[in-house]
Amino acid sequence: MGEYNQPANDSPVPFAQRPIIILGAGIIGCAAARQLLLQGFDVTLVAEFLPGDQDIRYASAWAGAAWHAAGGISPDQRYLQAVTHRILLKMALEPETGVSLVDAREYLEQQPTPDSALWGKTVVSRFRNLSPGEYPSEFACAWAYQTLVTDPTRHMPYLKQQILKLGGRFIRHKVDSLQELYGMFPDSGVFINASGLGSKTLADVRDDRCFPERGQNVFLRTDQCRTMYFRNGQEYTYVIPRPYSGGVVLGGVKQQENLSPDVDFEIARDEIARAHRLAPEIVPANPPESAISHIIGIRPSRKGGFRLDSEVHGSRTLLSAYGFGGGGYAFSYGVAEALVRMVEQAERDNVIL
Ligand SMILES: Cc1cc2nc3c(=O)[nH]c(=O)nc-3n(C[C@H](O)[C@H](O)[C@H](O)COP(=O)(O)OP(=O)(O)OC[C@H]3O[C@@H](n4cnc5c(N)ncnc54)[C@H](O)[C@@H]3O)c2cc1C
Repeated sequence: MGEYNQPANDSPVPFAQRPIIILGAGIIGCAAARQLLLQGFDVTLVAEFLPGDQDIRYASAWAGAAWHAAGGISPDQRYLQAVTHRILLKMALEPETGVSLVDAREYLEQQPTPDSALWGKTVVSRFRNLSPGEYPSEFACAWAYQTLVTDPTRHMPYLKQQILKLGGRFIRHKVDSLQELYGMFPDSGVFINASGLGSKTLADVRDDRCFPERGQNVFLRTDQCRTMYFRNGQEYTYVIPRPYSGGVVLGGVKQQENLSPDVDFEIARDEIARAHRLAPEIVPANPPESAISHIIGIRPSRKGGFRLDSEVHGSRTLLSAYGFGGGGYAFSYGVAEALVRMVEQAERDNVIL
């Protein structure tokens, strides 16, 4: 037999017609579903929460969600973000996607290191170093560029419609284990675990590196919503425009000890004060109560970073894509494209005997 592979599954149904099963319908599961469907694969998503749901454990409903180059990541991970940027840039031409191209100003507390977010200048448009005098003197340097923001209140429903239109299916169901999922689809050979924080508790995953990280943002209604401000350094602060919702998202905070769904007004006051210092022309010191609402969500974080890998277990291929913490939107479509390549590898292994 030598160079010949054994068929991974002796099902009479051809590989491409056996549904790829995705556990999780957040931005990661849904982006993967869309990209797979566009390549002609059959896709079914199984999830407790679906686009349109508003539970704080469903992180994708609550993200900012800005494309910002992450610091401290590997070249391969940078490329995932670059691919995401390429796909979102096209989407920004269609209002129904909820994706917008906006101006960004990033202020750095310290000079950038080689490991910093500076690599992002190879991806974004119109990057330039600001001259002293163009930014507050307390900062070491500053950048201006254009970036992409995704309004999740539009984008998740858009993705749901896209997936249905392309022939994908959603099943609302909570599973206790991957084994339970395998039992639901005995003919399927490829499974994608995009369950976010679910991977901490699924009986046959129990990934102890996963942990919940609470975020709470202020949404301020304003028509000045075309510029993102980002403070890079110890005082983690952003003003993320959300043009299609007529406002800006002020943040941020990361909490591991408090997972409450209730608004912490101390945090909200602090975020408004920080955002006012960062962008006084957009955020007044004391915005009227009527212009304010609150956003609370739990980020699916993971010590050591996210998982994106493929394992073969007998006749099944299991792809893992979870643990994206505060960057799931910035990585989304790059991850989805990487998953397409992994599914194609499984297809190749199945059709070339
Ligand atoms: C306040 C806030 C601001 C943010 N801002 C940004 C930003 O500016 N830019 C950015 O890129 N990211 C941002 N994020 C992070 C982003 O929201 C997440 O990284 C992203 O949503 C994670 O997507 P996901 O699909 O992995 O997980 P989720 O959206 O949490 O989806 C997980 C899915 O798995 C399902 N699931 C889990 N377990 C089971 C089970 N046992 N059975 C069935 N289904 C299961 C869930 O029901 C759900 O459908 C922010 C997050 C928060 C909270």
